[in-house]
Amino acid sequence: MNEQQHSKTDSVYSPSGVGGIKRIAIFGSTGSIGTQALDVIAANPDKFSAEVLTAHHNDELLIQQALQFNPNMVVIGDEKKYAAVKQALATTTIKVFAGEKALEEVAAMDCYDLMLAGIVGYAGLKPTLKAIENGKAIALANKETLVVAGDIVMKKAVEHRVPVIPVDSEHSAIFQCLVGETRNRIEKVILTASGGPFLGRKPNYLVNVKREHALQHPNWSMGAKITIDSATLMNKGLEMIEAKWLFNLKPEQIQVVVHPQSIIHSMVQFEDGSIKAQMGLPDMKLPIQYAMAFPKRIPNSFPRYDFKKVSTLNFEEPDLRTFRNLALAIEALNKGGNLPCVMNAANEIAVYAFLRNRINFLDMTDLIEKVMQKVPFIEKPTLEEYFESDGEARNFAADIIKL
Ligand code: NAD
Ligand code: MG
Repeated sequence: MNEQQHSKTDSVYSPSGVGGIKRIAIFGSTGSIGTQALDVIAANPDKFSAEVLTAHHNDELLIQQALQFNPNMVVIGDEKKYAAVKQALATTTIKVFAGEKALEEVAAMDCYDLMLAGIVGYAGLKPTLKAIENGKAIALANKETLVVAGDIVMKKAVEHRVPVIPVDSEHSAIFQCLVGETRNRIEKVILTASGGPFLGRKPNYLVNVKREHALQHPNWSMGAKITIDSATLMNKGLEMIEAKWLFNLKPEQIQVVVHPQSIIHSMVQFEDGSIKAQMGLPDMKLPIQYAMAFPKRIPNSFPRYDFKKVSTLNFEEPDLRTFRNLALAIEALNKGGNLPCVMNAANEIAVYAFLRNRINFLDMTDLIEKVMQKVPFIEKPTLEEYFESDGEARNFAADIIKL
């Protein structure tokens, strides 16, 4: 965390909001993060309102959410669904937009105070950049935004004096540990990983793993892409890169430890060797609520962790030989430039193909590795060059597996 970003944890950031109500734009409202964010809003109507809702394909759920939360506007990504959404909301004053560009246009509007960036994948980058340029606070769930172009995103956030408040549970934990520590140097951060459904398994087992099996996460219920990323440990690699940018860390300051119970959400070790941890049951509503209410904590009725029930917390080293995606992500983290962007694009294609039973579990790693070797390295890419690297990586990946 650099000086400007670090100081945000202690500063008096508190977006105005109308009548004390923070107006939230939920990008990706029909997803796992989006629906949980709406639960938090529904439980706190005196503190939050849903002003913008966006969905990619799921028009039915978007309509239902719009009728319940009465936002200022909605965006349906899939233009073929525009007419259905428009008609269903015809008796309301809700404005309806469609298409990819509309996401950026709405992000540039003034009708909200905070964007909850809950779109999955690279698609979340451009709207989030627009919101930052528009001076809006960001509650960031979409880790791919920072993996793809973290240097540019964080620089813009500082320029526009925009707080980027993490929603990812590990980064929320680190952020919470840093409150009150503005002037204290971080020695390292320790990201905890559940290990996913295949913890302790070896390649001879993983080669036969099927989609349905990989979608069963032991501790968290999430969208399909991040669930597969958790099974391959790519998710932890993406999170190491996310941590680098959020907290301005060097790669060697970021460590991963497997902690199967997911009670400690991550830790910060300071210069005196003292380690702070943030704990709780694995429930994304907590980091979502924290990011939306920051700098305040607000009460809720979520279940509490009971030390009498889960009395053992275990820790072990991640198995980088078996879960090679994490090793590839560490390589991308160390090398920097456009490599994390390229890796992310290849991974999105790999997960897409695995979810459609086009490639097997271990093929995902081979594909990502090949693409990382193939796309030319750029040390200090411009935003345009990041976009190009993403496109190139996707094309290579799709070619290799004949998608
Ligand atoms: P999800 O698949 O459940 O939902 C994704 C949302 O994004 C949906 O609303 C969908 O309509 C929208 N979307 C998908 N593709 C789009 C596109 N091309 N253009 C516009 N909108 C699109 O995903 P999720 O699990 O909610 O994850 C969202 C983000 O949050 C991811 O980046 C993920 O890594 C991160 N995250 C999720 C969790 C979790 O518990 N689910 C935890 C930490 C971080
Ligand atoms: Mg996480």
